[in-house]
Amino acid sequence: KKILVVFGTRPEAIKMAPLVKEFEKNSSSFETKVCITAQHREMLDQVLSFFEIIPHYDLDLMKPNQNLYSLTSDIITNLKPVFEDFKPDYIFVHGDTTTTMATSIAGFYSGAQICHVEAGLRTFNMKSPFPEEMNRSVTGVVANIHFAPTITSRQNLLNENKKEESILVTGNTVIDALLFSVDKVNSNNFNDQEIESLKKLVDKEKRLILVTGHRRENHGQGFINICKALKEIAEAYIDCEIIYPVHLNPNVQKPVYNLLSGINNIKLIDPLSYPAFVWLMEKSYLIITDSGGVQEEAPSLGKPVLVMRSTTERPEAVEAGTVLLVGTDTDTIISETIKLLNSTETYLNMSKLHNPYGAGNACEKIVNYIKNHIR
Ligand code: UDP
Repeated sequence: KKILVVFGTRPEAIKMAPLVKEFEKNSSSFETKVCITAQHREMLDQVLSFFEIIPHYDLDLMKPNQNLYSLTSDIITNLKPVFEDFKPDYIFVHGDTTTTMATSIAGFYSGAQICHVEAGLRTFNMKSPFPEEMNRSVTGVVANIHFAPTITSRQNLLNENKKEESILVTGNTVIDALLFSVDKVNSNNFNDQEIESLKKLVDKEKRLILVTGHRRENHGQGFINICKALKEIAEAYIDCEIIYPVHLNPNVQKPVYNLLSGINNIKLIDPLSYPAFVWLMEKSYLIITDSGGVQEEAPSLGKPVLVMRSTTERPEAVEAGTVLLVGTDTDTIISETIKLLNSTETYLNMSKLHNPYGAGNACEKIVNYIKNHIR
């Protein structure tokens, strides 16, 4: 059978890379090809090179000042010749991006089975113009097979009347990616220029607070509040150092560089390639982020996470207590960070919990499911 895996952004690439590897391991049953839309370019290419994946089709759709209207239609239009060339039986998409949604629509026209990885996440807050909830819901409508990371996401799909036999709970493939990467990064023969530079940058005497943020819903006042909080924390806790790989989006770069440049124990750096980021997560004391993937990864490394969002499509982590929602209110970010910095008990309670996103065998489960499906 022919498998086409389509993705476009860094987080999708990280979460789909181990699946591509798993299908390739089973080459007697599957012919596997990868198509990238390159909705993000540079950050995506770094991931592909780390996982040693060479895409068979590269739509190369990233444009300056890209908007979602043209991106959506470009993806649909440009996938037609790819589908006609490869004639996939199964098309795999991931998560909630414009690539995910547009590919599933195009895939529907092609007649292939649409397989949605990381299916069933919901905020129940479809707020225009933020696209994620719409993207994942539309994909859910079109998909034939839903790979849900947790029983909560499975239940969301059942509530939408998806058939029980079309859903498999797998855990999140990001844990597969993380465990592979931790091994690779720590192996003796792995040499990485970025990690060598980080070793020089990190002050080993200080507790490291790792920060990332990119969400559209936080653009504007959200990032201003976040930066104010980080500034106060850095000034009050000189035994800590904040390292912040700043997302390339100008709506993020502007407030962050304006408000946080020139503070001694805040180091603003470019976004890191995945291995370097994994290395830095391992070295960190705690993580402050609005990223979805980081919330899922950090518990496997025993790192508490404060999430700068007011809603989440990842309630399992909040329920398990591995992450805490702090929104983008300056005072709340400061007070919750201080609790973790001041109280060993609070810290240990949060860092020693079991990861609700699985054990790192999601890809094997997915491939086995497809093997049974074709029998
Ligand atoms: N990540 C990375 N480099 C960075 C920041 C994050 O490789 O500088 C990784 C991180 O480990 C996670 C993924 O990128 O696996 C998350 O991506 P992002 O926060 O952009 O998207 P989200 O998960 O919120 O969709």
